[in-house]
Amino acid sequence: MTSFHDFRLNDAITRALAEEKYLAPTPIQTQTIPVVMEKRDVIGIAQTGTGKTAAFALPILHHLAANARPPVRKSCRVLVLSPTRELSGQILDSFRAYGRHLRIRAALAIGGVSMGAQVRALLNGVDVLVATPGRLLDLVKGNALRLDSVECLVLDEADRMLDMGFINDIRKIVAKLPAVRQTLMFSATMPHAITELAAQMLRDPIRVAVSPAAPAAERIDQRLIRVDRAAKPGILVEVLQREAIDRALIFTRTKHGADKVVRNLVRAGIAADAIHGNKSQNQRERVLAAFRKGAVRILVATDIAARGIDVDGISHVINFDVPNVPETYVHRIGRTARAGAEGIAISLCDGEEAAFVRDIEKLIRMSIPASDRRAPARRPETSSGHSASVRPPSGPPPAKRRQQSHNGGAHKQRHHDHSRETASQIASIGFMQRHTPAGRDVAQHEPRRTPHLKRSERA
Ligand code: AMP
Repeated sequence: MTSFHDFRLNDAITRALAEEKYLAPTPIQTQTIPVVMEKRDVIGIAQTGTGKTAAFALPILHHLAANARPPVRKSCRVLVLSPTRELSGQILDSFRAYGRHLRIRAALAIGGVSMGAQVRALLNGVDVLVATPGRLLDLVKGNALRLDSVECLVLDEADRMLDMGFINDIRKIVAKLPAVRQTLMFSATMPHAITELAAQMLRDPIRVAVSPAAPAAERIDQRLIRVDRAAKPGILVEVLQREAIDRALIFTRTKHGADKVVRNLVRAGIAADAIHGNKSQNQRERVLAAFRKGAVRILVATDIAARGIDVDGISHVINFDVPNVPETYVHRIGRTARAGAEGIAISLCDGEEAAFVRDIEKLIRMSIPASDRRAPARRPETSSGHSASVRPPSGPPPAKRRQQSHNGGAHKQRHHDHSRETASQIASIGFMQRHTPAGRDVAQHEPRRTPHLKRSERA
């Protein structure tokens, strides 16, 4: 399948795709669209950036157009559940873009904004409702919405919904849907809990999968800087000053940490803004729009808030904190190198995070080239066995220079050659298949540091 025409989508949709300059379907679209057109249930393993939104939105729009009927008051025909407000907004935008030549009524039901406008939007019924689970249930409880005429349910980023503690909300929602319906579930990873959920919710599903990180990760220049915890803020400033940055996304583990990083950067004269769950919806949208436009070039985010941010042209992803879940690392670095661009991912790793790096390297089946900025007293005698020591482009820090001056020239040369060798291996390595060590999955792993979040803490 090489062209959108092969799917025999409604002409109005094909026209919109041409206007969007989509020349050919992506692999997830090639696999998913024909199956959804046949009204089969689908479990799709794909992450953001693979084109999965169009993979489900296009055949759904086609079906709505082919079976147009007046909407039923306070109800929707297609329900799309997504974990975050940002992702929900982007999904709605996609439906509107691809359906711009169709008469499709679409609405958004997300938390963080007043319910009034959402209640009014649902009054006469809609074709497509994109929602976060909590707000959807509030609308159902408030009699603003009934779910008994839903024909198609889409669960997007199912693994993340689980991580965020939405599982009970999802079960409650599914219990209110008609038993006869089409169900499409998309997830970046397939932990056991997702397999179980799929078995309960889907009917004889077709499984489609793309190895998501592969094309992007091959183009990502990954680097690790070993640091002392206290030195992280200073080293981050140096990195940002040294690198040629178009747009950088900096990840922290906590919202508080994100704010601290922003304060540190602003103090150093570097304009930056944060996006996380404590910000109001308006603030988040304003910050995101500024980042998209390039008015803010440095955005600091938590994983949950960053999920679903769909911004092209991110030249750098910086892990201020190394994630304890290896899959999260893959999600994070996948934010750069999108749309064929090249990207750089830099991780600042302190002593406590070294174990997380080992897990990440196991998952991605490669070692990340590392440079060492720790105070000399804290360095091990030899480098860590699987990480090459690479000098930063601007030359070694004073401590490193001192250390090198004690070494012989031959040793220095070997060190260098090893670095180059590792770097070229990385450039040529066909990036991983998604590989989760047996018995370890996101749902089991995440609570080590981030137990299920209270609703007030969710993004
Ligand atoms: P998604 O994975 O759905 O978040 O999509 C990632 C990005 O790819 C979005 O910016 C889409 O607009 C874009 N996109 C999706 N499908 C195609 C396609 N077939 N050709 C070009 N761009 C696409």
